[in-house]
Amino acid sequence: MFLTACAATSESTAGDSPRLTFIHVNDTYRVGAVEDGKLGGFGRAVTMIREIQAEGREVRVLHGGDLLYPSLESQLWNGLQMVEALNYIDALAPVYFVAGNHEFDRRTPEHLVDALKQSQFDWLGDNYQLNTGDAAVDGLLRSNFTIAYKDKTIGIFSLTSHVDDGGNSRDYLNVDKDYLVVAEQAIENFESQGVDLIIGLTHLYMATDLQVAKLRQEHPTLAFVVGGHDHEPEFSEQTEDSAAVMKGASNARAIWRIDVEFDEAGAGQIDVHMLNLGEGVAIDADYDKINQKWRARLLELYPFLEAKVGEAAFPMDATEETTRSRETAWGNFIVDQMLRAFGEPAADFAFINSGTLRIDDYIADDITFEDIGRTFGFSSYLRYMTISGAEFRQVMEAGYRGAGGSQGYFPQIAGFRVCVDRSRDVGSRIVSMQIPVADGWQEVDAEKEYTLVVPDFLYRGGDGYQLPKDRPASRPGSELKYLVLDAIVRAQAEGRSIGTVVDPGKQRIEIHEDPVAQCFRGNALGG
Ligand SMILES: [Zn+2]
Repeated sequence: MFLTACAATSESTAGDSPRLTFIHVNDTYRVGAVEDGKLGGFGRAVTMIREIQAEGREVRVLHGGDLLYPSLESQLWNGLQMVEALNYIDALAPVYFVAGNHEFDRRTPEHLVDALKQSQFDWLGDNYQLNTGDAAVDGLLRSNFTIAYKDKTIGIFSLTSHVDDGGNSRDYLNVDKDYLVVAEQAIENFESQGVDLIIGLTHLYMATDLQVAKLRQEHPTLAFVVGGHDHEPEFSEQTEDSAAVMKGASNARAIWRIDVEFDEAGAGQIDVHMLNLGEGVAIDADYDKINQKWRARLLELYPFLEAKVGEAAFPMDATEETTRSRETAWGNFIVDQMLRAFGEPAADFAFINSGTLRIDDYIADDITFEDIGRTFGFSSYLRYMTISGAEFRQVMEAGYRGAGGSQGYFPQIAGFRVCVDRSRDVGSRIVSMQIPVADGWQEVDAEKEYTLVVPDFLYRGGDGYQLPKDRPASRPGSELKYLVLDAIVRAQAEGRSIGTVVDPGKQRIEIHEDPVAQCFRGNALGG
């Protein structure tokens, strides 16, 4: 019922061959489910694990990273709520975990140390080491990791992101960026031990996973690579030249089932299915006790969490995949509040990196305190500054670097509109940048001085934005979360709902993949 078939690479089954299944999940930030409990969550994954075990199969779980942060709960408990949830799964079916970039969100290591100490599941790390000051904890990271099942041995190597590829730079963390070199060393090491099957467990961009998967050309025991970091499912099938590559959807909305069989010659064969965890899959009642316990603790601290503060005009897509690749109604509403964060007159420009917006869910019907709390996984203090038109244009170029797709640095903007041509060289992709004037729109004047409101994180150079440091700038002041709350409460008092549909003809952000003859064609006032 909930199987969307993907790839069956082999039907062969030797009689007494191990009946082994891997379940893969990645990017899980919630103890419970998402979309008002209707989608995903460990509770549904547990139900699937029990069903597969009932088929007489041994289940092992792979987690592709991003667990401890960010979330409303991790601001209170630093991810220990997620450790408890994953410990529950580990007791049911052993869990192997690679750290994602978000495991290193804190600048100091003490909370990570607590998380490692409380983890009953294995933390794997082949291209990174910890230097937390607690040698026993650093030693918990397992490299060249193998598991035994019946007469077979399976090797699992693991890779996490370097700071250049969306990882975190921390004093207590050392990441080797030569992913392919590390992977091949681990594979050769496994081969010398005679392992029967090799798995890659990663938290990398898909493009890198596909390169890792190609190591199968030389190393046919590399069967599949499963990863995280992306929040929507990815799949690349197994061929002679490439291992299979799979990523699930965040918060276990979609997970992968990988059945492993060994043929007569002892070669591992895989049979792969994606499992969509929707309302058709029950939430395991025993697991749900953990969810209920943490929910009760949260409501004890914030009894008002479920209270309505306003209403959404329509279901606003605030999933990461959408927020990080295009202008969104929820993003526009939020950034609009920044323009007046420092009073009147309003600033000319405001923007945030979409990585600031963490809810990864829809905002629909009643807007609650919880929606706001989940949107802002971090505190975001704003700065007010002056900047020339030329400088601002250069700053914004950073938002349109790269090949596109879902990127945390992708900007949500207010006060201006921008037209981008991605076929141009990085650093000169902005074709037009305009501000509204009485009778339409006007190009941003390179020489003119403008005012800008940005999060302190970006002011300090976060996500690759280089703001000029020789300009008058305020101290970090107004907190974005409360500005947004205030605006919603005000709208509610005035009987207004929240959200304006992003009209494809009147976009703030217009992105072209090819050279563009005329920007903003769709806009009646367009220039
Ligand atoms: Zn990540």
